[in-house]
Amino acid sequence: MDSLPASYIAVVVLAFLSGGTTLLGVALAIALGENPKLIATGIGFSTGIMVLISLCELVPESLSIAGPVATSLSVGLGAALILILHLLIPYLHLGREQPLPVELRAAYLIAGGLILHDVPEGFAMANAFLASPSLGLLVAVAIAIHNIPEEFAMAVPAVAIKNLALLFKAAILSGLAEPAGAVLGLFAVHLNPALNPVFMAFAAGAMVLVSFIELVPMARKYGEMGSFALGITVSVLGYMALHALFPQERSEIPWLFIPTAR
Ligand SMILES: [Zn+2]
Repeated sequence: MDSLPASYIAVVVLAFLSGGTTLLGVALAIALGENPKLIATGIGFSTGIMVLISLCELVPESLSIAGPVATSLSVGLGAALILILHLLIPYLHLGREQPLPVELRAAYLIAGGLILHDVPEGFAMANAFLASPSLGLLVAVAIAIHNIPEEFAMAVPAVAIKNLALLFKAAILSGLAEPAGAVLGLFAVHLNPALNPVFMAFAAGAMVLVSFIELVPMARKYGEMGSFALGITVSVLGYMALHALFPQERSEIPWLFIPTAR
């Protein structure tokens, strides 16, 4: 029997580390409370980091290995899966303005955090790491950083119910969802290693759609779109810094080749 490859262990450890930052987000929500400008800036930052990592790292990596057809199909499938989950999970239609019972707020935090955000992120990180450890590190650090403002924004409504034990339980579950997504990713690649690049494209589609159907409306609710734009701007700078820290070697993408004039 084979022992577990070191890369699998590295992925799970990284997933725990980058998922663990959700606890910092909850601590921020408790310390700072409802501050619309800060929340909207944070949502802008998380949205920007997720979209940039998806479109500038995961999709090009998939394109360079699997080509444009498989990559686009996988991005579409990832987005479609999130759309279906979004329609199936009724929490978004409850109307967040009306005061919700404790259980529903907790369910919101858990369902939103677990299924829509952290599972695809863990899945993306595992596949990125198996494709290239430096890409996996970049994705893990990006997720760790973006989790802080994202969980902050998601936890603020639950802080209002003043049940910290419940809140931390939900946060721990949400932090564990990333390792769960990573194990799912490892399992999927183990079953079919050839699908590794398109799994990255699939996760990218899922993460971009989560940003647009969940994070953007959350920011709009606070009506601070200037702060949201500021958050996006900071995320671009943050992404550039991450990219400089973890430079990526990527083979040419022939389909994006722009011929130079002679
Ligand atoms: Zn997220």
